[in-house]
Order: sequence, then structure tokens, then C-alpha cells
Amino acid sequence: MERLQTVLGDITKQSVDAIVNAANCSLLGGGGVDGAIHRAAGPELLAECRMLHGCETGKAKITKGYRLKAKYIIHMVGPIYSGTPEDAVQLADCYRSSLELAKTYDIHSIAFPAISTGVYGYPLDAATQIAVDTVTDWLQNHADYDMKVIFCCFDARTAQAYQTKME
Ligand code: ADP
Repeated sequence: MERLQTVLGDITKQSVDAIVNAANCSLLGGGGVDGAIHRAAGPELLAECRMLHGCETGKAKITKGYRLKAKYIIHMVGPIYSGTPEDAVQLADCYRSSLELAKTYDIHSIAFPAISTGVYGYPLDAATQIAVDTVTDWLQNHADYDMKVIFCCFDARTAQAYQTKME
């Protein structure tokens, strides 16, 4: 089975052990995918997030999935695009931190949205290249750990961007 896949759809509907949220530093909810995840998971999610006291850019924290099919939600904070080399470092850190955290929780399937490419303004082509490269490296470095990764794309343009990089 392919360890890395692109899927077109809503991340809140994915049947995986964990979905990843593109959160902001407060972890107290926002728009975009964050809003969709909070709506789908229900109010208990916000209550748990309040106890986490935020999250730094490039880092990840985990909560339960509540009303989602996914057992867990990994909240990671992507960089707000600034056009500096730090952006790429922080975006790659996000993917690595999420995968490391997932492994700690014995998670074996995980879906990522296109972190930072919405309101945070990261150019799609550059962001998807970092996502594919970082996840591929991680999977190669953890070949003995069974992990399936899905890039969950909300629109065809995003799916196309991932697909060209995974060919
Ligand atoms: P950021 O602030 O990190 O840029 P956004 O939520 O604005 O996060 O956007 C990140 C990506 O998530 C965008 O590609 C957006 O289209 C996508 N997105 C929004 N809602 C969903 C959803 N329900 N499922 C999957 N992806 C989504």
C-alpha cells in the first residue's frame, strides 16, 4: 500500500487515526480549516484546547477528536508567510513535529491539510514541495514504523500541486 496519498475532500470527514489542524498560536479557534475542525468536533474540543495554553510556530500539540471519526487532532501552527528563509524551516518543522507526536501516540494514519497556504499566504507551489519532501524524508527515516500519510486537499488546484510533486 502507498504510504503517501493525495485526497480531494474535507479533512473533518477522513477516516484516519489523526487529522492535523492548521491552528493559530492561541489554539482557540479561527477560520478556514481550523473553524471547520472545531465545528465538526464539537465544543469539547475548544474546552480541551483552552487547557493547552497555546502553541509556538513550527510546533504541534494533540487533543482528542471528539465527534470526528479521527481519534486524535494534532494542532500545528504554520508560519505566516514572510518571504524570509525562516518560513521554509518553520513549515518543515511543523510536518516533522506532527509526525513525531503522532508516533508517540501510536498513530498509524494521519491526514494533513495544506498548512499555511490559506490565510497565512504561503505560495502553494513552495509549500507543497516542502510538505512532500519533509514527509517523504520522515517516512524514509522511519521505514520500520507503519505510517500512512494523506495530503487532504480542499480544492483541485491544491491536489494538482501535490500530485505533480509526488510523480
Ligand atoms: P492557514 O492559516 O495555515 O493558511 P487555512 O485554514 O487558511 O490555514 O488554509 C489552509 C488550507 O486548508 C487551505 O488550502 C484551505 O483551502 C484548506 N481547507 C479549508 N477548509 C478545509 C477542510 N475542511 N478540509 C481540508 N482543507 C481545508
